[in-house]
Amino acid sequence: MGIGGLVIGAIIYGLMGGNPLDYIASNTESSRMTGSSTASNNSADEDKKNFASVVLADTEDVWTDQFSKRSAQYPAPQMVLFRGRTKSGCGSASSQVGPFYCPLDHRVYLDLGFFDELSSKLGARGDAAAAYVIAHEVGHHVQTVLGLNRQVQEQYGRSNKGSVLQELQADCFAGVWASHMQKLGNVFEAGDIQEAMGAASAVGDDRLQSLGGGEVQPETFTHGSSAQRVGAFRQGFEGGELRSCLQASDW
Ligand SMILES: [Zn+2]
Repeated sequence: MGIGGLVIGAIIYGLMGGNPLDYIASNTESSRMTGSSTASNNSADEDKKNFASVVLADTEDVWTDQFSKRSAQYPAPQMVLFRGRTKSGCGSASSQVGPFYCPLDHRVYLDLGFFDELSSKLGARGDAAAAYVIAHEVGHHVQTVLGLNRQVQEQYGRSNKGSVLQELQADCFAGVWASHMQKLGNVFEAGDIQEAMGAASAVGDDRLQSLGGGEVQPETFTHGSSAQRVGAFRQGFEGGELRSCLQASDW
């Protein structure tokens, strides 16, 4: 099993309620715990960056496959990991704004402090929550490249309902990703992700940005109820296909 499989396994194991480090320890000769207490901040950030790249690469595999079924090419997004402040195509952003996707530059922005908060709140399960957040942000990218967000905006304008539908669809797309992770040989129940989702949104909801220039603004809309979000995730998880998330009637 390669490092990718190991991390994926650990994520799924984490989603099941297990400690991902237990999973890694039982699948490697050397324990990854070694040296973690003496690791410098830089190498801790390096670990987070590696983890995020692995999750992003997994989403790329899933969506490349899904797009090829529609005879389309998947233009993978880029990811920007930062501490403090960063500039984006949607304006400059501080870490207070939370993770967000900017449709204007097709990039996912993640503040490394957000990962710190997830792991301090959730311990080892913070990794599962972080992976879910990345898959959700990539879901916004899928919406953008398919023009789905434009359709919603045309139908609902900038209303709360339109925003919630886009958030739920991104959760559904995260479910499609999880479904493919599961096919790698891991089993978990969609309902088990509820805690990871709840914790992720308690730490800071993501911000889907649509306006260029100025400062990235925290949105005022809600992301839907917890039950709606889990329902949307489950729809993607059980359907396992892009098209599973094109019908919002069940949410
Ligand atoms: Zn979102």
